[in-house]
Amino acid sequence: MDIEGFRKAGYQAIDRICDYYYSLQKLPVVAQVQPGYLAKVYHTRLDALAAPQREQSGIQLDEQPSMHRAGDGRDGLGGETLGLGDHFMNSSAEGGGVIQTTASEACIVVCVAARSLYMRQHPDAKLEELVIYTTSQTHSLGVKAGLVLGLEVRIIDVKAEDDFALRGEALRTTLETDVGKGKRPFIIIATVGTTSSGAVDRLGEIGEVLKEYPSVWLHVDAAWAGVTMACPEYRGTARLEDINKFATSFGTNFHKWGLINFDASMLWVRNRKHLTDALDVTPEILRSQQHIAGVVIDYRNWHLGLGRRFRSLKVWFVLRSYGVEGFRKHIREGIALNEYFASLLRDFPDISIVTPPSFALTVFRLVPCGSWDHSAPITEELLNMLNRAFYARLSARSDILLTQTVLNGMFCVRFAVGATRTTVEHIDIAWEIIKEEALIALKDSELKVDSSQGVI
Ligand SMILES: *Cc1c(COP(=O)(O)O)cnc(C)c1O
Repeated sequence: MDIEGFRKAGYQAIDRICDYYYSLQKLPVVAQVQPGYLAKVYHTRLDALAAPQREQSGIQLDEQPSMHRAGDGRDGLGGETLGLGDHFMNSSAEGGGVIQTTASEACIVVCVAARSLYMRQHPDAKLEELVIYTTSQTHSLGVKAGLVLGLEVRIIDVKAEDDFALRGEALRTTLETDVGKGKRPFIIIATVGTTSSGAVDRLGEIGEVLKEYPSVWLHVDAAWAGVTMACPEYRGTARLEDINKFATSFGTNFHKWGLINFDASMLWVRNRKHLTDALDVTPEILRSQQHIAGVVIDYRNWHLGLGRRFRSLKVWFVLRSYGVEGFRKHIREGIALNEYFASLLRDFPDISIVTPPSFALTVFRLVPCGSWDHSAPITEELLNMLNRAFYARLSARSDILLTQTVLNGMFCVRFAVGATRTTVEHIDIAWEIIKEEALIALKDSELKVDSSQGVI
C-alpha cells in the first residue's frame, strides 16, 4: 500500500469506527458467535489463515461489528511465515503461540513456567538452588527475570574466537560444575542474534548437551533476528532446524525489524500446558462454559496480565498488506544494505570489522594499522581510548545515530539497518559521516601519541 492508499484507508477506517459507535445501541451485548468463528471466517471468506504470498490491495473489514470484541489468537500467521514446526502451533495437540508485550516479559513468563514445571518434577528442590543460565552476550532480560523472580542467574563467558556464541562445551562444563555444588539448572536462555554483535548461539551443540539434562528448559530469544526466518535463505544462519528440534520455547519481536508497531512480541511454546499449569488463576467471575469445557484458549493464563490488546490484528494487517513476499523483501533489503555498508568499511584500512556482519548489524572499530608508524605500540587500552573518542564525535552529531558496545573488553561501534525507507543513499551519507569523524579521531590520536609518547 502506498502513502495515498494509506490515507484513503485511514479515512475509511475512521468512518467505520464512528458508524460503529452510532450503531452500538442496537447491537446485542453478548457476542452472537461461537468461539473459533473468526478462524472459520478466515477459511471460508478471506482465505487468509496463512499469510498471503503477495500483498493484498483491498483490505476489507466487512465483518459484523461484534468482531471488535471477539479476540483472535491465530498464531499461525507468524509461525508459519517463520517456518516454525507444527508442534509450536495452537493447531497442534500440545504447543501454541501467544503475543506477549515484550521479549523481556515473554522471558519472565517462560522462567515462571519452567520453574513451576521443575518444582513439580523435583518436590525436594529449594528455590534458592535454582539457576537461570545466560551468557555474557544475553540481553539484560535474563538478569531482569532473575531479579523479578528472586532467582540466581549464571552468566557464562563466551569467546571472541567463537564469534561470541555459546558453545556446547562451555555449557557442559558450567552445568557439571554447578550441579556438583548442589545447584539446580532449570532454564537456559540462548540467543539468535545477540544485541551486542548479532551472535547466534550454537543451538545444536546446546541441544545435545541438554539431552543429559532433560529437566532444563531451552528458551531461544531471537527478539531482533527471528524475523529473518521468514526468508528461507536465512533459516540456516538463524538455526531454525535446531530451534524446531530442541527449543522448549522461542520468541521474536515483530515490533523491531518486523514492520509492526510496538508491541508485538511473539512467543511459541512446545507445550502450552506448562504455561497454564503455572499461570492459570482463573477467578470464578471469569469461568465460562467454554473455559470449563476447555474449548477456548484463555490467553490470560499464558501471560502476566489479565486483559489483552487485540494485537494479532496488527500482525494480520501487516502480513496482509505486505504479503509474505513483501515482508521478505523488507528483510532482504535490510541485510543487503548492511552488506553494502560492510563492503565500504572493508575498503578503509584503519577500520576493522569486529565480528562477521550478522543479518543487518555490523560491529566495527578503528584499528589504525596502515597509518600507525609511531614508536608506541597499539595496546588494547589505546585502541579503546581512540574508539571512545571516535564514538564521542559521532554521538555529538545530530545527523546520525549509532550505538556503542563492549565485546570482551573491546569498545566498538554498532551499525544496524532496519527502517523501511532506508536506501543506498542513506548508507552512503552515513558512511561519509563515519569516515569524516574517523579521520579526525585518528589524526587527533596521532598528535597526542606524538606529543606525549604513547598516551592518547
Ligand atoms: C531488543 C531485544 C530484547 C528486548 O526486547 P523487549 O521486547 O524490549 O523486551 C531482548 N533480546 C534481544 C536479543 C533483543 O534484541
